Amino acid sequence: MSTEKTIIFSDLDGTLLDHYSYQATPAIQTLAQLRQANIPVILNTSKTLAELEVIRTELKLDTPFIIENGAAIFIPINTFHAQPADTEIIANYWVKSFCLTRQHWLSVLTELSVEFGQFYQGFSSLSVNELSEITGLDLAQAERAKQRQYSEPIQWLGDEVTKKAFIEHLVELGASVVHGGRFIHVGGYCDKGQALIWLTEQYREHYNKDSVYTIALGDGENDTPMLDAADIAVQIRSPVHSFPALYRQFNISQTQLYGPEGWAASIQHLLAEQLLSHSI
Ligand SMILES: [Mg+2]
Repeated sequence: MSTEKTIIFSDLDGTLLDHYSYQATPAIQTLAQLRQANIPVILNTSKTLAELEVIRTELKLDTPFIIENGAAIFIPINTFHAQPADTEIIANYWVKSFCLTRQHWLSVLTELSVEFGQFYQGFSSLSVNELSEITGLDLAQAERAKQRQYSEPIQWLGDEVTKKAFIEHLVELGASVVHGGRFIHVGGYCDKGQALIWLTEQYREHYNKDSVYTIALGDGENDTPMLDAADIAVQIRSPVHSFPALYRQFNISQTQLYGPEGWAASIQHLLAEQLLSHSI
């Protein structure tokens, strides 16, 4: 019997979901195969709880998931034998949070609003209609995207020099500033990698196995901590930017195909290799 358990951590936008259409269609069959093989797929995204609850139903996932760039992990109750330490019960989840709330970061932004307020638009100041226009999300999706708990995404409208000064001020005030696909995320120092490490440890204890084997897939700069923390990193090709640099040197692959097509092809490739054959 194998002593290895494979877990997949995946970004959504531009990775499992197409950058333009937000559809996962080319990866649906592969997701079904993974479900069949009992390989958990953990969504690790900048999206909100409200967005994730809809998307995981559409993708038929009942696994834990990580919201808002690693700010919190939602673990469906009974995923593990016992409630993990340092978690609280919210609705049907054990929740592990790593960051201060959005309210804190909004007050930090307010402090800078005289100097920089005219150079950006934050989610909190955008109407659902405006957000829908910027993102291409429909109105219901935009409404869910606005329900952030831990961070404030902003769209930068000014020049690069002013942006740099703005970010420096934010960092001085204790904020972490992360570039996502379309927005700059202002929040606390949490990241997708820290969340991966914590959740992997829970799986390790749960399965009582020395080697829990992690694969991470992502396209953006905000995915790099997750890609650096996993056993295998898969960089998904983006139609709008080049592959971000990683610290790691080994066990990295870069897809030829974009978004969910690249996602499915790389997982199929890994499934075909011995690596995952233990788990199936
Ligand atoms: Mg992405």
